[in-house]
Amino acid sequence: MNLLELIQGDGFVLKRKASTNGGEYAGACPFCGYEWDTFRVWPESGRYWCRRCEKSGDAIQYLRDKKSLSYKEACHKLGVIAALNKYGSRSARKVKPNFTPKETQTPVDIWQGKAKTLLDGAINNLWSSAGESMREWLHTKKGLSDDTIKKAMLGFNSADICEPRANWGLETALNDDGTQRRQWIPSGLVIPCIDGDTVQRLRIRRDNPGEGSRYIVASGSSSAAVIIGKDKGTAVIVESELDALLLSQEVGDLVNVIALGSAQAKPDKNTDALLKAMPIILICLDTDEAGARASWKFWPETYGDKVKRWPTIHGKDASEARLNGLNIRDWIIAGMFGSEEKFERFCIQTVEGGLSDREAIQAN
Ligand SMILES: [Zn+2]
Repeated sequence: MNLLELIQGDGFVLKRKASTNGGEYAGACPFCGYEWDTFRVWPESGRYWCRRCEKSGDAIQYLRDKKSLSYKEACHKLGVIAALNKYGSRSARKVKPNFTPKETQTPVDIWQGKAKTLLDGAINNLWSSAGESMREWLHTKKGLSDDTIKKAMLGFNSADICEPRANWGLETALNDDGTQRRQWIPSGLVIPCIDGDTVQRLRIRRDNPGEGSRYIVASGSSSAAVIIGKDKGTAVIVESELDALLLSQEVGDLVNVIALGSAQAKPDKNTDALLKAMPIILICLDTDEAGARASWKFWPETYGDKVKRWPTIHGKDASEARLNGLNIRDWIIAGMFGSEEKFERFCIQTVEGGLSDREAIQAN
């Protein structure tokens, strides 16, 4: 959206007066209200000026003066508008119904018992003084509240654990060099996938991976996606579980959040069933190159035009974008409804009209 559309969007009529400098438009002034074309806009340079009241500036200045937004709020609003223009149109690709989701494996009982014991210890550790800097990191860098951290049952494993695989009910396996593989749980943040009261996966985020992987999944873990919420009318797909927790914390009253674990991962059977029932799916996979390449084609081909590509703005993922000032809630609402007016209508229909989220989304 250029400056011209921004001002016209507020209901001010501007007529083209000259073709110099990429076009000059004139109309009644949004500031002083004077009607005799004293207000001029040059869309190409993105500037406006009123000859009478002498208000002048660019899109950010317009939002500050006309809508009383702060500089940061104005930048944010323009960022969301730009994203809407870039990604806002739903895909019209043909659905190719050739995707068969896989059933995920549940870990064996002995594994679940080991994982539960390890997780309980890690949770205690996180809330002890040993976990203080980890909690601080989750607050400041990841934007998670204590309440979110507790509900997600995050933990802190303070020392590497390396055990025979048999202890975890796993079959023996060999490394490339012929030695016995072991169950390795490195020290770091423990991110569990919980189903009911059973542990399905342990993912560890290592503090200092060096040359190795940042994330390690305990052998024998389920590959199920993390699904937070099932009863809302929109599903948001992200890569990392920590981003999913942030989104759920900020906008979980409006959306179900799904963490796939990687940009290349495909929905498992449960996730696929949920996605098929959703009126809107926002794909918020990380905006690095691998994420974008892998993400796009599969989704509209599988779920059709209810899929909208909605990468984060101001950062490669949700937590980085938050650090750079993105209002997570506004960003998701813009993805769901496209405009504040539509969001207001949705709120009225759900709060006063008694419609469910899904019905209200479909009615719009
Ligand atoms: Zn004026």
